[in-house]
Amino acid sequence: MNRRRRIYEGKAKILYEGPEPGTLIQHFKDDATAFNNKKHEVIEGKGVLNNRISEHIFLMLAEIGVPTHFLKRLNMREQLIQEVEIIPVEVVVRNIAAGSIAKRLGIDEGTRLPRSIVEFYYKSDDLDDPMVTDEHITAFGWANPQELDDMMALALRINDFLTGLFLGIGIRLVDFKIEFGRLEENDTLRIVLADEISPDCCRLWDIETDEKLDKDLFRRDMGGLVDAYQEVAQRLGILAESRPAAGSGPVLVTDNSN
Ligand code: UDP
Repeated sequence: MNRRRRIYEGKAKILYEGPEPGTLIQHFKDDATAFNNKKHEVIEGKGVLNNRISEHIFLMLAEIGVPTHFLKRLNMREQLIQEVEIIPVEVVVRNIAAGSIAKRLGIDEGTRLPRSIVEFYYKSDDLDDPMVTDEHITAFGWANPQELDDMMALALRINDFLTGLFLGIGIRLVDFKIEFGRLEENDTLRIVLADEISPDCCRLWDIETDEKLDKDLFRRDMGGLVDAYQEVAQRLGILAESRPAAGSGPVLVTDNSN
């Protein structure tokens, strides 16, 4: 079906060779995984929604001067991105206790943290993404001190921006995970935001009801994931107001898919 060269296949996305050197095509799959792949399901419509939501967020971040790998959306499931060297560190920003921090430190889920907290995890499926400190990151050369500073500063700016963006549409940004890459520009290396930002890698709670609008619905077998992601997309102004008939999939406001 796809004659393009596949560069990498992850849990929720595939990267193909792009049309120009230095570009890649990022394809969003419908696969949902949790607990390091121990739980896996195909959820029809998820990839299309994440493609649109992530595009929307990356474009807005670019507007406030956050450098990203995003170039343009190509179709329902794919976007053209700049090829970057991924830094093997997941950066998590937390505003409210949930998930692993609630468990590890015995904090009730939903407790507001004294301030936003940034954490780092080493990207390794074999090791279950262990938490690491800035010392590990610089000592093992995953990023140098300047790159680490840039990642930290960008993560906090992204958090401030996204917190406000979601508050404006009645959603609490509890926490999220982002990834960065190195991009070569005029013989210098620059840190840019890579990967995706979607409800797959954020915790999003409705302000009024505390209803979950993110991947915890899948992790906790609660169901309704596509409806929730669609709700997020709709509130962000990406989807048409009218809900699609059951089974017809998400309705896009603009659709230049082929
Ligand atoms: N997260 C992610 N990918 C991961 C681990 C975490 O996108 O491999 C996101 C997760 O969706 C949440 C935040 O990072 O928004 C913090 O996750 P946490 O450390 O609480 O881990 P979890 O409870 O999700 O295992």
